[in-house]
Amino acid sequence: MKIERIEAIGVSLPLAKPVRMAGAEVATAENVVVRVQTDGGLTGWGECASSPTFSGETQGSILAAIDGFLAPAILGEDPMRREALGAAMERRLAGNHGAKAAVDMALHDLAAKALHAPVYELLGGRSREAARVFWHLGNANPEDDAREATARMRDGFTFFKLKVGTTTVERDIEAALAVREAVGPECDLCADANQAWSVAEALRFARGAERAGLCFFEQPVEASDLAGMAAIARACAVPILADEGIFTAEDVLAHAREGAAQIVSVKLLKAGGFTGALRAIHAAETVRLPLHLTGKVAEAALGKAGITVNKNAIPFDRNPPMVASGIRIGTPAVTTRGMGEKEMELIGELVLRALATPDSEQALAMVRGEVEALCRRFPLYADRLG
Ligand SMILES: [Mg+2]
Repeated sequence: MKIERIEAIGVSLPLAKPVRMAGAEVATAENVVVRVQTDGGLTGWGECASSPTFSGETQGSILAAIDGFLAPAILGEDPMRREALGAAMERRLAGNHGAKAAVDMALHDLAAKALHAPVYELLGGRSREAARVFWHLGNANPEDDAREATARMRDGFTFFKLKVGTTTVERDIEAALAVREAVGPECDLCADANQAWSVAEALRFARGAERAGLCFFEQPVEASDLAGMAAIARACAVPILADEGIFTAEDVLAHAREGAAQIVSVKLLKAGGFTGALRAIHAAETVRLPLHLTGKVAEAALGKAGITVNKNAIPFDRNPPMVASGIRIGTPAVTTRGMGEKEMELIGELVLRALATPDSEQALAMVRGEVEALCRRFPLYADRLG
């Protein structure tokens, strides 16, 4: 089996509701869908979200990275040799982990299809039957956060992530307390500052929000400030989680060495796909750091399916308790309400139709329009899976 063709397709997916966070507001997901085709007729799909302020990758840079560097590095090769192909892409282009993640996901999809097995069988097999999802909160005022949390609780959500650091520490303390008041003691609530604060501000928030009983406090200071993270971790009763600071297995080990995190977040987009994510996950397990596996805000069905598959293949015994949710193993491309596998298949068909059209530029423009129309019919609840 040989890789015959690799297509990177930019899509703009409008979110049902913008996600506000420190440093960015995501209203439209500018994602890239990757299609890898083999000489035997098999097709693998992958996806990544662009996130200029998080990963440094734009939709344009991801498309250029795949078209100009990653695709030429692996064209004509056997797609089953995922480690070797990963190394070949690494030799051709440093960084660009989101672009690599999309290709790596497509290679896993291909391998799984070739073996007639779900992707999780390639990752160590099934460890659980369901993955827990959380809901992002990040409104302009605390009352709206509390109201939204109450409404989502009625949908069955029991885990909320409050985005903080967009205005003042005091407003965020108020929001954390208001949400706790609204959801009661049974729900889990965490806060994510997306690197917005100084050590002093982070500690002020943690102390002020003590009664909110946060289950963790995510990336309070800049990713590279391991000393700051460690200082907060020492002074704070709430476990500190590193997200922007953790891209690779090396980052996990550095945080462990410096005492800069008590939980680490692994994402396919940061780790360059399943292959890198498994390295980071195994590094975390080796140094006994609990894991938080999430998708990137605004990844669509394929990205969510990817992280769901990954999540369900990883033993979580040391982590906060997992509860059943709408996302279950065996339904490969699922957001709880939004685009599912059927719609992704439809996108696949649209792309195939475009590839059969002689004027490829015009064909891709046409498909992009149809894909975007499809996405408008299935507004993404992109912050559902965490
Ligand atoms: Mg985060």
